[in-house]
Amino acid sequence: MTISTLVKAAATEAATVEFRGLRREFGPTVALDGLDLTVQPGELLALLGPSGCGKTTALRMLAGFEHPDSGQVLVDGEDVTGVPAHRRDAGMVFQSYSLFPHLNALDNVAFGLRMRKVRAAERRTRAAELLELVGLADKGERFPHQLSGGQQQRVALARALALRPRVLLLDEPLSALDAKVRTTLREEIRRLQQELGITTLFITHDQEEALSMADRVAVMRDGRVEQCSTPTELYSRPATAFVAGFVGTMSRVPGVMAAGDTVEVLGRRVPVTGDGAAAGASVDVLLRPEGVEVEPDPEAGGRVAATAFLGATTRITVRLPDGCEVKADVSTRRAGEFPVGARVAVGLPDQAVMVVDRAAR
Ligand code: ATP
Repeated sequence: MTISTLVKAAATEAATVEFRGLRREFGPTVALDGLDLTVQPGELLALLGPSGCGKTTALRMLAGFEHPDSGQVLVDGEDVTGVPAHRRDAGMVFQSYSLFPHLNALDNVAFGLRMRKVRAAERRTRAAELLELVGLADKGERFPHQLSGGQQQRVALARALALRPRVLLLDEPLSALDAKVRTTLREEIRRLQQELGITTLFITHDQEEALSMADRVAVMRDGRVEQCSTPTELYSRPATAFVAGFVGTMSRVPGVMAAGDTVEVLGRRVPVTGDGAAAGASVDVLLRPEGVEVEPDPEAGGRVAATAFLGATTRITVRLPDGCEVKADVSTRRAGEFPVGARVAVGLPDQAVMVVDRAAR
């Protein structure tokens, strides 16, 4: 069968998902503190945030494994808050080890269909089509222990899609895999999700994964959404210091506000983007490593404290005379000019920078 026929066979109507004011406490812990979030039809939305911020609890509420103390979960406008998990119409892929070990790949994929009393011949055809869709047409007879981690997660994905769910829930599906497999599978999941047009909620700790796969990323903190935006917006216009620090690398360098929404930092005066502060206020200036320039300069006060090879670029950490550190990316071709201990001058291009209150975290 062609891929487009397979996709058509597996596709469903894309649903809208809404979390409205979800609150959930576990004893003294507030896991969700009024979570509001909408996932648009066909969108892949990543929930990103530090450990314990409530990502899993939110996902489990949509799956129906967890129920809120207050608030609602809506799918296509219908309140499903009280609907049990087996009637939620959600396909789920977990971190790992979630396949039934005593069933081969084909039977794993067909399992849900069997529960729904689909006839044996149709089950086998559907399961085979789904395995083909995830590139495992020839592995149907293999048992989980005869498959690699990446292959097992593909089977898990096929199994999640078998019942044509209205939403797909991915709970860190790549975290147990090695880096190379992770990147490949990341691209495959994204392509398949787009082809199927299935509304998908994806949780991850890994900002690179979230930014590279998602249409939008919701950064969570303490049971709430701190910012939900496209990856580009999140990176270039973080709404808070927390988001700025969590998404991408950010240095904090002390500065003093000057007149006309500018800030004095690293011996220069540059414009400020977003909320500034009153002239004379002490602030921290947030700087991305690609927005900082370094030049070898034997007279300068800064010294290279560390270097990290990142491929095409090398990240240089400079310790300034006041003890604060700032990171700058240079082309790896120039990395030899910045050995650890070398004196370097740090400069800023004429770009607007973000400032935050010095106490803000
Ligand atoms: P991680 O990235 O570490 O998986 P997370 O963002 O998914 O974290 P949750 O698993 O949603 O976070 O947990 C949110 C908070 O609620 C945490 O403090 C956690 O310890 C607590 N919590 C979650 N489930 C339970 C439970 N069943 N009983 C008690 N506390 C819980």
